[in-house]
Amino acid sequence: MSNSFRFYNSLTRKVDEFVPNEEGKVSMYTCGPTVYHYAHIGNIRTYIMQDVLVKALEYAGYDVKRVMNITDVGHLSSDADTGEDKMLAGAKREHKSVMEIARFYTDAFFKDFAAVGNKKPDVIEPATNCIPEFIHMVQVLLEKGYAYQAGGNVYFDTSKLDDYYVFSSAIEKEELQIGVRDDVEEDSNKRNKTDFVLWFTKSKFEDQALKWDSPWGVGYPGWHIECSCISMKHLGERLDIHCGGVDNMFPHHTNEIAQSESYLGHKWCNYWFHSNHLNDRAGKMSKSKGAVLTVSVLQEKGYDPLVYRFFCLQSHYRKPLEFSFDVLDSNVGTFNKLVKRVAELKADGAVDEKVKKEFEDKFRAAISDDLNTSMAITVLYDALKADTNDATKLALVESFDKVLSLDLIGHATSLSEETEVDPELLEYINQQIEKRAEAKKAKDFATADAIRNELLSRGVEIKDTREGVKWQLV
Ligand code: AMP
Ligand code: ZN
Repeated sequence: MSNSFRFYNSLTRKVDEFVPNEEGKVSMYTCGPTVYHYAHIGNIRTYIMQDVLVKALEYAGYDVKRVMNITDVGHLSSDADTGEDKMLAGAKREHKSVMEIARFYTDAFFKDFAAVGNKKPDVIEPATNCIPEFIHMVQVLLEKGYAYQAGGNVYFDTSKLDDYYVFSSAIEKEELQIGVRDDVEEDSNKRNKTDFVLWFTKSKFEDQALKWDSPWGVGYPGWHIECSCISMKHLGERLDIHCGGVDNMFPHHTNEIAQSESYLGHKWCNYWFHSNHLNDRAGKMSKSKGAVLTVSVLQEKGYDPLVYRFFCLQSHYRKPLEFSFDVLDSNVGTFNKLVKRVAELKADGAVDEKVKKEFEDKFRAAISDDLNTSMAITVLYDALKADTNDATKLALVESFDKVLSLDLIGHATSLSEETEVDPELLEYINQQIEKRAEAKKAKDFATADAIRNELLSRGVEIKDTREGVKWQLV
């Protein structure tokens, strides 16, 4: 690979040059959502930044295979194996079965995931699909002496490792040890405080819905085992990149490494990519806090989901990002101005390949430098200002959008249609939009819907947005 690609590796705690196991190819694993509730816009920030990582690697010439799990069993309300099963709690909350909850929130997740321009991973695997693989890994860990049975459960014995806290500095290790010691909920079966459950049979929750037979009795897997097994099932024993949010580093990813490397007997994953959180003014967004702000809710409020992506791309993935509607509103304005500039470009003449390459190199350098997305957007603005013809600029917008995925050309086309349509039709559309607004004001939603449908039958789709009603030809 001729281009250098670098990003921060949590394992070495520095920005590392990326060298894959197999030249030109990247195996990537992503911790997927726990589908007991909607994914909030914070979760989606994490998946946007991972999508940028995939597309930036592809822009640099790599062939990426990405696998994601869906956690539909085994994740307890505390990441340290205490509390209630999140899926069971979700099912109780909504008086549905665990599988119904899983299906509903998996669909909701992928709807929002796609709406912000993310490409679906190549493989998506629910944890409940892979129970035999989990049982096999637990068996091998027991045989190798890394695991033990106690009180009906199977635990991983962290005292067998020389370095359990792989992601932490010496000071952080001490803090984590104190944190673990102070953990109020004790599991007396554990030999060491940091040990974690590989397989539960002795459940505190007699009503645990999903259970499977195993050599240790009927039960269900711990949370961490799923990612190790699903990753190895599809990507083999040597993984290039493992992704997640910063909260996944401990204990989840720490435990994944412990069990995977003990099972394999060699190093498992070379690069660990962790993105920072989205916070609101009250602090970290959390699914378990109840009311969650989702991408779909943003859409219902009239925001374009790609404006949310645009907002995320302007800050660095390793920094916490604070969300507010004021900031999102200002992004709506900036995004619309950008679209307008693209809409003004006329595809005239031939693309100047020399200029195109020059800007593409700059863009690639920015995005390959620890995903400097804000610099990549600056390169886009520089290209739009450049002393070259519109055809070249359009080609560059199209090229950069392979990574940015803001659908700039699509938005610009809709905007142009709005201004270029036949004046008679334009007048009619505007009249109907006004009539619909009046009907809505009078709460006559039947008329409002009829107007929308009538326009649609003429090939005009209308949308309610923050900046008022917009329409496009379909
Ligand atoms: P979960 O469904 O809770 O397992 O979370 C899905 C992903 O979202 C994980 O990779 C988390 O690290 C990440 N995540 C959780 N909370 C936030 C947040 N406030 N901002 C960004 N990412 C988050
Ligand atoms: Zn995981």
